[in-house]
Amino acid sequence: FMEGLEKLRDEPAVTQDGFRVTLLTNTGLLADATPGLQRGAEGVGLYRSEIPFMIHDSFPTEQEQFTLYQKVLKAYAPRPVTMRTLDIGGDKQLPYFDISESNPYLGWRGIRFTLDNAQLLISQVRAMLRANVDTDNLKLLVPMVGRVDEMQAFRQYVEKAVDSLLREGHQVKVPPIGMMIEVPSSMLLLSKLAPYIDYVSIGSNDLTQYLLAVDRNNPRVSALFDHLHPAVLVALEYILQQCKALSLPVSICGEMASDPAAVLVLTAMGYDCLSLSAYNIPRIKLLIRSINRDELLPVLEQARACNSEAEVRALLLPVLEQYG
Ligand code: PEP
Ligand code: MG
Repeated sequence: FMEGLEKLRDEPAVTQDGFRVTLLTNTGLLADATPGLQRGAEGVGLYRSEIPFMIHDSFPTEQEQFTLYQKVLKAYAPRPVTMRTLDIGGDKQLPYFDISESNPYLGWRGIRFTLDNAQLLISQVRAMLRANVDTDNLKLLVPMVGRVDEMQAFRQYVEKAVDSLLREGHQVKVPPIGMMIEVPSSMLLLSKLAPYIDYVSIGSNDLTQYLLAVDRNNPRVSALFDHLHPAVLVALEYILQQCKALSLPVSICGEMASDPAAVLVLTAMGYDCLSLSAYNIPRIKLLIRSINRDELLPVLEQARACNSEAEVRALLLPVLEQYG
């Protein structure tokens, strides 16, 4: 098994007809890059920085963060590492900072929380920038953006962090700054947001939750939560078309990228960068290497005509079986 993994590790994820897909990994729990590198991750598409905050018993200091981030950046260098700023709120709570709200998914989350706690944001960005000096492989990513002024404010805080580091005599390599598309308003404002972002990463979990108004963790409505819902597919095609027009690189993180049926649709649409948990990379790579994108285009056309996620899945199942 390990031998098979090793062989596959160095092969590209490319379809039979030559469509190349970059496969990145989602991480956050460990600085240990072994699972990702062993499975051929071409970098980190999503480092969930809240995870080390969640397993700590107080806010980690800038120095503690610096040490951790540097380990991660070094472990993957020269591959890119996309570090998302703190994304707490919603289902992600810190044991030492209570955010009790009656509607947490619509509340103090992600960038909303960090813009209201600017010192925390600045120290996190400073730690990431300091960690990046030797490797220069950091990309910053902002979660839960729904407004243009949020990206404007974030950029200003990055500038502040850069200025303070330069004043203290540190070197700085300014990283690309990306935005997650999770809140539907961000996708509808893409042309206005474009001046403030270098790339886009779609968080399909939250985007599905907010487009469908279905709590991603509520078992009562879990049957309604599906990233193959026709409205999600319309949104994904719209985002790709907008990003192409605006020359913004776009990738997808979130569970969708490890769902084989969804990967068929995404590849047919033209998505060429996915970020997923390391454990799922080999089988998604095998799938991509077995498909012929040209043959999927008529399937995508049929998927566009479907009225429900069940119809989409019924359409894709035999196609998946055909690819083994
Ligand atoms: C997402 O929302 O799809 C995502 C990748 O972020 P998280 O799952 O950490 O909310
Ligand atoms: Mg999310």
